Amino acid sequence: MIIGSHVSLSAPDYFLGSVMEALSYNASALMIYTGAPQNTFRKNVSDFRIDEARRLLSEAGISDYSVIVHAPYIINLANTTKPETFELAVDFLKQEIDRTRSIGAKVIVLHPGSHVNAGEEIGLERIIEGLNLALVDNDDIEIALETMAGKGSELGYKFEHLAYIKNSVIKSNLIKVCMDTCHMSDAGYDVFEFDRLLDEFELVVGLEHLRVIHLNDSKNLPGARKDRHANLGYGELGFDFLHKVASHPRLALVPKILETPYVNDQPPYCQEIKMLRSGIFDDWLST
Ligand SMILES: [Zn+2]
Repeated sequence: MIIGSHVSLSAPDYFLGSVMEALSYNASALMIYTGAPQNTFRKNVSDFRIDEARRLLSEAGISDYSVIVHAPYIINLANTTKPETFELAVDFLKQEIDRTRSIGAKVIVLHPGSHVNAGEEIGLERIIEGLNLALVDNDDIEIALETMAGKGSELGYKFEHLAYIKNSVIKSNLIKVCMDTCHMSDAGYDVFEFDRLLDEFELVVGLEHLRVIHLNDSKNLPGARKDRHANLGYGELGFDFLHKVASHPRLALVPKILETPYVNDQPPYCQEIKMLRSGIFDDWLST
């Protein structure tokens, strides 16, 4: 089971600290933001202690495809009303691609964007334009577009959106997908018919393009379009479903990343990874 979580990247150890945090959870994958998720201020990667981090990764047998970078939320490639927002998004994504290459990772997860009242078609075209600009000098780092909850004017709540973007971008081979279990349920997909959902994904996008799964429970009922993650087994999706996804034979090679909420300011990932590996829900939050 390739399983891990979001981990922090902060002074003084930066990327080395991220890898050590992941290993402390007994994880075999990890996801980082290269700085704060809500802004674009970034430290120079020369401070990241990359060589030591990569030595640890290789000792632990963690593949470069299991080290995931998540672009910050404020990147909005779908914005057509403010040129400076779009330009910032393109420029930042280019730098993020370089940073991802510097740490030896291969995949960046990106929220496709919100059309902010311009309409879905116009928003999708803008995303394609932005990705074409951002990918000009890149031939190796993949962008995994995330399935979204459909909150506000978010695009990407349908597999068709992601397939359309992928098929329209010039460097289509670099466009991949990240599934989020909470978001797909929020968007109205019947996730409990999970094999049928995978069949639909296979038909629309192609299962070979699935690079990451964000494994989260949901605080809301299916179709809520809210995007509120819950701890595994304490939401509307439930532990059995999430364990089924984590151990699904068709997804064996896809890294699963937990983005569940902290509990009393403590990360829940050690307990959640342990439960997923054992397949047993131990109700640790009630004890
Ligand atoms: Zn995300």
